Amino acid sequence: MPDAMTPIYQHTLIDGLERSWAVDDRAAAKVMPWVKRSPEVFHRDLSGMADYFPHWFLAGGANEKPLPCQRCGALQTPFEGAVRCLKCKRPGQATGLVWVGHLPVLARPEAAFVARQQVLREAGFAEATAGEAAYLLVPLTVHYPAEWPDLEPVARYAGRWLDALGLPRSSAAHHLIQNGRACIFDWGQWQAMPIHAVLQQRLVNHLASLFKIVAGQRPAEAFIGRVHSLPWQPG
Ligand SMILES: [Zn+2]
Repeated sequence: MPDAMTPIYQHTLIDGLERSWAVDDRAAAKVMPWVKRSPEVFHRDLSGMADYFPHWFLAGGANEKPLPCQRCGALQTPFEGAVRCLKCKRPGQATGLVWVGHLPVLARPEAAFVARQQVLREAGFAEATAGEAAYLLVPLTVHYPAEWPDLEPVARYAGRWLDALGLPRSSAAHHLIQNGRACIFDWGQWQAMPIHAVLQQRLVNHLASLFKIVAGQRPAEAFIGRVHSLPWQPG
């Protein structure tokens, strides 16, 4: 069992200032009882995300979405004894926990894609560059079910992001359900895996298929063999 006492730190920018905090297991358990039942599962997720997706953090949520502070609009996170606002520290009304972050994806060269990339820029979505290459920073949320890890998490694209790309928010052909939720597992296919593995093994592929559609492919071609593939095996 991992040493659940080692604190995991997360960080984000609030009004341009870097904020860093130690994730509070007991505060998390107040909104997600499974954290108390399975602290080792919680810690495995925290440490896996810190290793592979260090810019993501765990936010307080409600209705499968991050829940902003009622006073100042900043996001909340479990620290210092409660799920509280990262800016004003006021405890909020969160009923769940949701990972918040971006996946960087290499921009494609097709003219249809470049045109949409411009729409994303104009809508304020960020990019990163490494050398000559431009990466789109795709905003995503991954919400824990109450029954974690027995049920799969709910991964969602931002609705405005789908709109800017000219993609539907719900479409079976696009493997998008319930307003931007990514359909990444077949019925009965879920096997417990850490959150970082869901991102690496499912969402990266889902996103690559969406980008193929934006570049001009038909959805049936773009998704062939991409998403509902081999189940994750414990390494
Ligand atoms: Zn606040």
